This record gives sequence, structure tokens and C-alpha cells, in this order.
Amino acid sequence: MINEHGILVHSYGPHIFHTRRQKVVDFLSRFTAWRSYEHRVMALIEGRLAPVPFNLTSLEICLPDKALKLAKLLTDTFGKDTSIPILSLRQHDNIALRELGNFVYSRIFLGYTQKQWGLSPEEISPAVTARVPFRISHDDRYFTDFFQAMPKAGYTSMFESMLSHPEITVMLDTAFTDIAGGHASLPCIHTGAIDEYFDFSLDSLPYRSARFEFQHLRQQRHLPVAVVNEPDSDIPHTRVCEYRLLTGQDAPETTVGIEFPCAHLPGKTQQSYPVRTEASVARYKEYKKMARTRTPQTIFCGRLGSFCYYNMDDAVLAGMGAAKAILRFLPPRNRPPDLG
Ligand code: UDP
Repeated sequence: MINEHGILVHSYGPHIFHTRRQKVVDFLSRFTAWRSYEHRVMALIEGRLAPVPFNLTSLEICLPDKALKLAKLLTDTFGKDTSIPILSLRQHDNIALRELGNFVYSRIFLGYTQKQWGLSPEEISPAVTARVPFRISHDDRYFTDFFQAMPKAGYTSMFESMLSHPEITVMLDTAFTDIAGGHASLPCIHTGAIDEYFDFSLDSLPYRSARFEFQHLRQQRHLPVAVVNEPDSDIPHTRVCEYRLLTGQDAPETTVGIEFPCAHLPGKTQQSYPVRTEASVARYKEYKKMARTRTPQTIFCGRLGSFCYYNMDDAVLAGMGAAKAILRFLPPRNRPPDLG
């Protein structure tokens, strides 16, 4: 949305589009033009700014005396231009690599993850911290996908264009329970939370939420890169984002958004991230079983419907799959030919 100072910001935190899936690019390109953008993040570590994911440049900044030796050891062990999850580095047989793993873990992951999830990195699915691996190269881009871009006029405009169709009605501020006949009687795609849909009958699934504090600054630029992470556990926020650096908007002043993760309180906060632990995933699977038997015509989709930590391209792909799946409920004569 455009804030009161005319700056395009993301109300729910920075959303950076990146993908390796051409079919997702092709689909979204029907609704938006793109601004080419490669995301870079730095973290404040003991008073110094270093690239995240932690890479060979970060090593030179944080451990200058040992950097050369460690870079050689990393390259000899894992190969040049590779990456390794931080939890694996910490378990390596080589003591110097283990120590390096512990250094990065304690400076970058421990405090940030505790703030973000209310759990330690070991308590959440290893896939979460593996999103930000140790990178054995000087590549300081946050993502390495071939397609990295922002919708040229913003996400709102992209979705407006997607929804602008005579057969689409948008009803905001309407609970799914308020829609005539309820959901279960019609083929339907539900992207709300699956536990809420079933009235929490198997207990609630855990989610994290986040609060965003926006500050408008009377200066042209504030940060060296669009996002600066603050992993220190004594600081309550996790990251600061300067939106103009993402969107490329030309303006004399700038707005930053500061992200404070918090617990999700049903009915009070927005679910932002499903907290995937062994126990919560097992509970989700029970909900999924319930959905299959009780509401076979409802397709659950999205971060909340599938209790999945989706990137945007995952969400779009799942949406495309759901759109195809729902057409199967149509009488055969109304189905597009490629669906069989
Ligand atoms: N993470 C961390 N320190 C960082 C960046 C990430 O500990 O500086 C961990 C944290 O647990 C986070 C996860 O890695 O939730 C995934 O990070 P990502 O940037 O993908 O999170 P998102 O942008 O989806 O919130």
C-alpha cells in the first residue's frame, strides 16, 4: 500500500518474489510487469554489518584473522560455490568447522530464531534454518533463483489486475461462515486456517505473528541494503526494511518498517507463519484426514490451509494446482479439454 507520505510499503513485511519455476513467472506476468531486483541482506554482528546468508565476505568481516585459513578449509571440504545448512556445519567431524558453525549459529541464528519462532533452531523443522545456509562463495544475494523481481506497480496492483474479471466478486470483511450455505456444500478453495475451519476440534495449530512499526525518515536513504537483520536477543525486533530499496520508488524521503515477531493470539492477531514442529505437523495431518472425509469438495491451500511455510512462488504454484483441481468437480462437458 502507499502510506501517508506517498511511499509504497508492504503492510505485512517485505515480500520479495523469486523463483526457479518458469510457469509461475509466465502466469504472474499476465497481471504485472516486473522490476528486476536482487535482494541483499546484512546482519548486525557485534557492531559490524556482514552479508547474510553468511558467506566468505562475512567471514572476512567477522573473523579477519582466521578468514583465509577457514575459507580454504571450507572450499577443500565442501567445494567452491556450494552451501551447507548451519545445523550440519555444527555437527561436522572437523573441529575448526564445528567451531565456525557454532560461531555463526550463536551470532546469527540463535537470537533471531528465538525471537522469530519463540523456539530454538533445534526445536523447529531443520528446513527453516536451512533456508539461510552457510555459503562458500562471495555471492551476497539472498536468493540464487534465476528469476528475482518485484511487481513493477506493487503487489496490490498485480492482484487488482488478477481479480478484475466479470465472473469474480470480491467480498472483504466476510467470514467464510457467513457465506450462504457454508463452504462444505460447494466445491471450494479455502485459504484460511484449517484448524479454524474445523472449529479447532483437534485443538489449535501453532502460528507466529508479527507486528510492524513504520518510521518515516526525512532523508533519501537509511540502510546500506534493503533489509538489515538484528539477531541480537537483547533487541526485540528481528529486521528493518527500507521499502524504497525493494520497490525502486524514486522519492526524496524514505520509510522503514521494523518487524517485531510475537505470539499469535486467535481472534486478535494475524497468523503469519505456521510453526512446524513434529507435534504440530502430526496434528495438521489429522486435520487433513478430517478434511478428506468430511469435506472432500473443499481444497485447502496456502500457508494457513496447508500449514506450510510457503514462499510466494510455492503459494502461486499451489493456487494454480487448486484451480485445476476444483475444475474436476465440474460436469465433464464444462471442463477445459486439457483436464481430461
Ligand atoms: N534466520 C536467522 N537469522 C537470520 C536470518 C534467518 O536465524 O539472520 C533463520 C530464522 O529462523 C528464520 C529462518 O532462518 O525464520 C528463515 O529465514 P528467512 O529469511 O527465509 O525468513 P522469512 O523472510 O521467510 O521470514
